[in-house]
Amino acid sequence: MKISVLTLFPEFIEALKEYSIIGRAIREKIIELEIIDIRDFAVNKYLQVDDYPYGGGPGMLMMASPIVDAINKVKKESSKVYFLTAQGQKLNQKKLRVMKKEKHIILLNGHYEGIDQRVIDNYVDEEISIGDYVLTGGEIPSMVLIDSLTRLLDGTLASEDSYKDESFYDGLLEYPQYTRPRVFEGHEVPEILLSGDHEKVRKYRLKESLRNTYKKRPDLLKDRELNKEEEKFLEEIREEEKNGYN
Ligand code: SAM
Repeated sequence: MKISVLTLFPEFIEALKEYSIIGRAIREKIIELEIIDIRDFAVNKYLQVDDYPYGGGPGMLMMASPIVDAINKVKKESSKVYFLTAQGQKLNQKKLRVMKKEKHIILLNGHYEGIDQRVIDNYVDEEISIGDYVLTGGEIPSMVLIDSLTRLLDGTLASEDSYKDESFYDGLLEYPQYTRPRVFEGHEVPEILLSGDHEKVRKYRLKESLRNTYKKRPDLLKDRELNKEEEKFLEEIREEEKNGYN
């Protein structure tokens, strides 16, 4: 997948190239990361890319023409343009699974008070937010998107199971995990994980995954159909809760 990032702060995104799994994904050509400095398309010799908003109000707005020139420089027929903005649809694992099918995504990063609306109306395919809070610029949201998307691409993680077991993949949070030592500050690893019985471990993990979701994000259970086994476990969890078991 090719990812083009349009930004006023290219050095910010550059840092990603050396970073852990993303660095490896670039070296192994799973992703191609192109970083475009919007200031290269400034409207004058003073490298101007922003101006006062019509109608007044605080701050500056990014002008349309440098952004549009930057988009036109990288856009192909199959490209999809995403604007990172607090006003967009909230990014989640479901959305990432749709996005991973794209060949080329263009991530437009706003700054200052945002960008001229005419760019959004005429050049942006989708607006994406990373949460209901306002950041200074679209660079950190872009990095969040690139990181979470890259780990879903074939070949990035050692095994597909790594992300298929993770929280949100099948609408549930992940089960709790433990590593050595077996006893830490008097707290033991659940016995069943040491049993070597794969079926028992699978059932334990499914139930704990449901328990985690029920306790921390019950809203997720509303959107998810449960199979018979999951219903039974959830019933048990509710009973255990009534009886004071956490
Ligand atoms: N005036 C804008 C508003 O009220 O929606 C906020 C502008 S913000 C200071 C500057 C830029 O940061 C935005 O144009 C956007 O690109 C980015 N940004 C801020 N919060 C974001 C979020 N939650 N998700 C994605 N991008 C965000």
